[in-house]
Order: sequence, then C-alpha cells, then structure tokens
Amino acid sequence: MTKDNKRKGMKTIKCMNHDPENSKWGEYAPEDGPCLETMDVDERTDRALCWRCTSRSVSMVKSFRAD
Ligand SMILES: [Zn+2]
Repeated sequence: MTKDNKRKGMKTIKCMNHDPENSKWGEYAPEDGPCLETMDVDERTDRALCWRCTSRSVSMVKSFRAD
C-alpha cells in the first residue's frame, strides 16, 4: 500500500498567480514576482487562487486599511 501526502480525490496545484499574465487575478500577485503558493484542491479543479492572493484581493477591494 503506497501512501503519499495526497488525499484521495485531491491534487496539488500552483496558485493561479504563478502565471499572473494568464490569471484573471494577476493584479493580486505578489509585487516581487509570481506567487509560489501551492494548495490541495479537488482533482476536478484546474485553477485556484491561494489564500494569500485571495486575502490580498479582498483587502484591495475593500480598502478599509487606507490611511
Ligand atoms: Zn497566490
């Protein structure tokens, strides 16, 4: 029985912002380069945005922290 670190039905993918130019969320990629986060997703999912980019997009949209 082989046991790896993936759960059944799950796979590990890179954040969409690994390739910001082709990501609809590319503007939320880290300023210093492509996002290197990976995450476990359902195997039917092809794209996902990591929590870092997600939280960045949320804070940018709401702008509660201005000033
Ligand atoms: Zn990301």
